[in-house]
Amino acid sequence: MDMAVEAGVIKQHLIDPEICIRCNTCEATCPVNAITHDDNNYVVRADVCNGCMACISPCPTGSIDNWRTMPLVRAYTIEEQLTWEELPAELTPEQLEAAGVSAEAAGDPAAAAPALTQAQAQAQAAIDPAEAVFNSAQYGATVPPWSAAHAYTNLFPPKTPTTATVVGNFNCTEAGFDSETHHIVLDFGVVPFPVLEGQSIGIVPPGVDAIGKRHHARQYSVASPRNGERPGYNNVSLTVKRVTEDHEGDPVRGVCSNYVCDLKVGDTVQVVGPFGASFLMPNHPRSHIVMICTGTGSAPMRAMTEWRRRLRKSGKFEGGKLLLFFGARTQQELPYFGPLQSLPKDFIDINLAFSRTPGQPKRYVQDLMRERAADLAMLLKDGGSHFYVCGLKSMEEGVVLALRDVAKEAGLDWDTVGAALKREGRLHLETY
Ligand code: FAD
Repeated sequence: MDMAVEAGVIKQHLIDPEICIRCNTCEATCPVNAITHDDNNYVVRADVCNGCMACISPCPTGSIDNWRTMPLVRAYTIEEQLTWEELPAELTPEQLEAAGVSAEAAGDPAAAAPALTQAQAQAQAAIDPAEAVFNSAQYGATVPPWSAAHAYTNLFPPKTPTTATVVGNFNCTEAGFDSETHHIVLDFGVVPFPVLEGQSIGIVPPGVDAIGKRHHARQYSVASPRNGERPGYNNVSLTVKRVTEDHEGDPVRGVCSNYVCDLKVGDTVQVVGPFGASFLMPNHPRSHIVMICTGTGSAPMRAMTEWRRRLRKSGKFEGGKLLLFFGARTQQELPYFGPLQSLPKDFIDINLAFSRTPGQPKRYVQDLMRERAADLAMLLKDGGSHFYVCGLKSMEEGVVLALRDVAKEAGLDWDTVGAALKREGRLHLETY
């Protein structure tokens, strides 16, 4: 029998609440649903985590990679973890010994990898692959496309933010409507803050939360290309939706989104990041980009489109196809509706879906994808095609299912295609 289990010791997997940026990547990635969260923290269920490490490399901050040797009976519960503001220290050898764990068992290398507890083994045995619910997250790549540029990450971690100055802020949805999304431009001056299309940054709102704790940073995708919102300047743009109701539709004033939307030119903000090393665009000639987004999920798509537009203008780069599926409740709520219309048709193929246009049937991005099945099937067969999905969490499953159905109808084996898209960094999912 494994000495670690015999002695009742586990190497418990924990998330550092001081560094975690609450991006949900770990929870979305975990294949056994061991990770959960509340408004305060992301936490790991000790009796479910099997130490498979699938969550480690996608984590943008490294906050996921924390382990504590614990007597099995004293493993931290998720209720405890949800209240933490910092990680507890390792138990000392004396404390472990007092809990009945011998130094030999505590130091056993077998304990370094969490051993399956009986509960974990039972939970896993109970999963019948045939009955498993479709899990779209399993197809999301955790590696970038082979031709992606190198992404710098965590230059300013959550504990040491930098300062940026607001140099632009305007409503990029139609004025006079309840739902408002702002285009914000932040300038970093001489502070090195290199970003690539697809990366995100964190904004730390000032003040404290209801229990007097400093607000944690909220993440926003960069909406500008790598050489700046204004080419050659050290600035980035963001697309921020003012949160005025929660996911249930009840009125609420989102802390950070309202802070950002109300910023004035000349104000300064605390920024952390950049984050993200896999949702990056391909840079090789003739590579195709399929962008599927809703609402502010358009931010990284705007960044990639604008970079390709600038390359095309230079005449030195032969881009492949750019295909956009973009959804919003109404045309008035669709960020950048006006500028999108002026992009040349031979540059980008734009498909818009509105789900709440009065008098019109509801249309979602996945409906558009099914309508364009023949074109998508061609792209699925082409190893140079890259797929990006960003926006509402609720869209993710429908979009990946639509891709699967398109593949199947074209006679492709989805298991093979889906696995290749993931392995080759060609299907990226970022939903929140
Ligand atoms: P909070 O004060 O944190 O929340 C207030 C209440 O509203 C809570 O009940 C909460 O559950 C609910 N709520 C939170 N977000 C939403 C929402 N979107 N819709 C409805 N209810 C909500 N947001 C953008 O606007 N643009 C982006 O480009 C963007 N990129 C992101 C990229 C990543 C990787 C992630 C993880 C998130 C991204 N977000 C983006 C979401 C953003 O980080 C914040 O969650 C969002 O702005 C709400 O923060 P808040 O402080 O205003 O609301």
